[in-house]
Amino acid sequence: MDIIFATNNENKTREISNILGDGINLLSLNDLDIHEDIPENGSTLEDNALQKARYIYEKFRCNVFADDTGLEIDMFDGLPGVKSARFAGENKDSEANIDKVLLMMGDSEKRNARFRTVIALITAGKEYLFEGIVEGSITGERRGTGGFGYDAVFIPRGESRTFAEMPLDEKNKISHRARAFEKLKTFLNSRVRSPGKDAE
Ligand code: IMP
Repeated sequence: MDIIFATNNENKTREISNILGDGINLLSLNDLDIHEDIPENGSTLEDNALQKARYIYEKFRCNVFADDTGLEIDMFDGLPGVKSARFAGENKDSEANIDKVLLMMGDSEKRNARFRTVIALITAGKEYLFEGIVEGSITGERRGTGGFGYDAVFIPRGESRTFAEMPLDEKNKISHRARAFEKLKTFLNSRVRSPGKDAE
């Protein structure tokens, strides 16, 4: 099965291609020579993932999926959420984003948060959503040097290390993204084995 991943991020494409495994031929936007920014201005992760997948589907009428991830902090009623990349401004500065979170949280004891990934898939003209969540908490200060984004201040539940203190392959096994993409993989594999399902 050929399927487009609506992203220009080659690292992400490699990571997800590994998760999806053989039998699914993943094409990135670079493979299709599309280098424009795909519109992404929804008010939820679901809106954004669907918006990106629909944008590519309208152009190519082919199997496509897109993902969107956010850090949802209980104390801020789910913010930064869909605004995670740009929490501290349009230049998507991860360090500034972390500074803003730590400043806003101060020494509050209510530090629960979660990473949530939503994937929107369009296949045979039908839309499907998949979700992956990792519950955890926000530290009082940065710890660790690995990872990206908010990893240095996020401790998954049941762990004592932040994501940034874990080896990348360990984080990638338990991450919100891995959980969402495992669901997508199960779904796609069932389609590859029973290609007529969409005609039901
Ligand atoms: P995206 O939807 O994957 O582009 O993620 C949006 C933003 O969420 C990123 O710019 C990061 O700030 C944050 N983010 C997403 N995934 C992770 C992660 O695994 N660790 C830390 N931050 C993340």
